[in-house]
Amino acid sequence: MTATDWASVATRVQAPSGLLIDGAWVEALDGRRMDVVSPIDGARVASIAIGGSADIDRAVRAARTAFEDGRWSGLAPAQRKQVLIAWADLIVARAEELAYLQTLEMGKPAHESLAIDLRAVGTTMRWFGEAIDKVTDEIPHTDPNALALVTREPAGVVGAIVPWNFPLTMAAWKLAPALATGCSVVLKPAEQSPLSALLLAELGMTAGIPAGVLNVVNGLGAEAGAALSAHRDVDVITFTGSTAVGATIMQASAGSNLKRVWLELGGKSANVVFPDADIERAARTAAWSIFFNQGEMCTAGSRLLVHESIHDEVVDLVMDVAAAMQPRNPFADQAPMGALVSASHLDRVDALVQRAKAEGSRLITGGAAAQVEPGGSYYPPTVFDRVDTAASIAQHEVFGPVLAISTFGSDEEAVRMANSTEYGLASAVWTRDLTRAHRVSRALKVGVCWVNCYEEGDLTLPFGGVKKSGFGRDKSLHALEKFWDLKSTWIQLDE
Ligand code: NAP
Ligand code: MG
Repeated sequence: MTATDWASVATRVQAPSGLLIDGAWVEALDGRRMDVVSPIDGARVASIAIGGSADIDRAVRAARTAFEDGRWSGLAPAQRKQVLIAWADLIVARAEELAYLQTLEMGKPAHESLAIDLRAVGTTMRWFGEAIDKVTDEIPHTDPNALALVTREPAGVVGAIVPWNFPLTMAAWKLAPALATGCSVVLKPAEQSPLSALLLAELGMTAGIPAGVLNVVNGLGAEAGAALSAHRDVDVITFTGSTAVGATIMQASAGSNLKRVWLELGGKSANVVFPDADIERAARTAAWSIFFNQGEMCTAGSRLLVHESIHDEVVDLVMDVAAAMQPRNPFADQAPMGALVSASHLDRVDALVQRAKAEGSRLITGGAAAQVEPGGSYYPPTVFDRVDTAASIAQHEVFGPVLAISTFGSDEEAVRMANSTEYGLASAVWTRDLTRAHRVSRALKVGVCWVNCYEEGDLTLPFGGVKKSGFGRDKSLHALEKFWDLKSTWIQLDE
């Protein structure tokens, strides 16, 4: 797709702009609307309705009514499967429009929106649709005078709160398993990325999701998100976002109805490169893993731990990739990096970089906002070298294209350094030694571990973290477990 092709997609895109409540597109009760600003050039691109706590309450009521009357929860799994697959087909058919909106609102390269996110979104809907009529309940072996059943029942009303960095993929990771189990959902997209979620939901309605089963309330986190988290008739919150907001949501649960909360949070993931690795592949992939998606990734490889003996070689290769991945207009042909999500996020990224410099961390490339032709929020690949693991830039999640390189001398030291942050989302081990690969990956305190690759995998693998990266898993059959309750039924038989 060229810039001209994307311009032609722009002429045919039409996303709804209201709240989706009980199958209808409506305005907020107080009539409030918000402008959507594109980080590509700072232009206002749309106006959307934003809901407050009264709108969240309307959406939760609609979801509850739909859940209790069984219009979706009461269907055979094979019927829900048909609808999810029809939705997947529509997502594939309308992928260019969805990708366009996502790039417009959050700035990632449009070719990646299409090839990476939209493929994931369609596949996720299809995969959970295909899966749901293949899971079964359990009949444990018991005393012959009894029959025991362990049945899975949908939990009820799910609140899904998602971030802006992979707006559609994160929404799909929540919606597909929650809807597959029979739950009803209220989705609260991030305020920076409301448009793609609206079109996604419209396609869901066209595919046959009944009214009230899928509701979308855009709004501010502190209002709509907080109201959903504190609502007494929501059974589950599934969240992806920052560690700080995750903690707030747990408090809201504790202060309301003890709804269960699943949290996918931040990270400070490390690529650990040993001297026996394919060094060129390791260094280039490690660099890509932090600059891809502008570094706005929970799994961004924001730390590079490299054995002292190969430090210079690795740094040269990283600098080579950094030079090649300079940000451009995300609708430009094959732009290697796009715009950061907003001007205020750019300020936050830059403030963390300036703090690192002030603390004495050694900057070897980047380090200031980039001037890119359309004039939006662009930041170049930025690298600090020989960083002390206690330094702020080695500890805090930047959520931008900023890499901290540190060196180690032994395997034990590498593991200790890799585990030295409060996060535990992902990590990669680079070595050709099978024993080392096993021993080191086993010792890493993370939810996702790659060996000789980064960001690889498919829907069969659970995704999520440990420590302050959260708990609960997206993807895989394990994701279904978040959305149903186990019921134990013991039936005493006559002797
Ligand atoms: P965020 O500020 O935590 O926002 C995430 C979502 O929570 C947004 O929809 C936000 O709404 C909402 N929210 C904000 N305050 C809230 C509150 N008090 N109660 C309920 N909801 C609230 O995160 P972000 O800046 O969008 O995304 C970046 C973060 O997400 C990073 O830390 C990143 O590591 C993490 N992340 C994790 C994963 C993972 O799978 N582990 C994946 C992607 C991103 P507003 O937009 O209106 O503020
Ligand atoms: Mg936010």
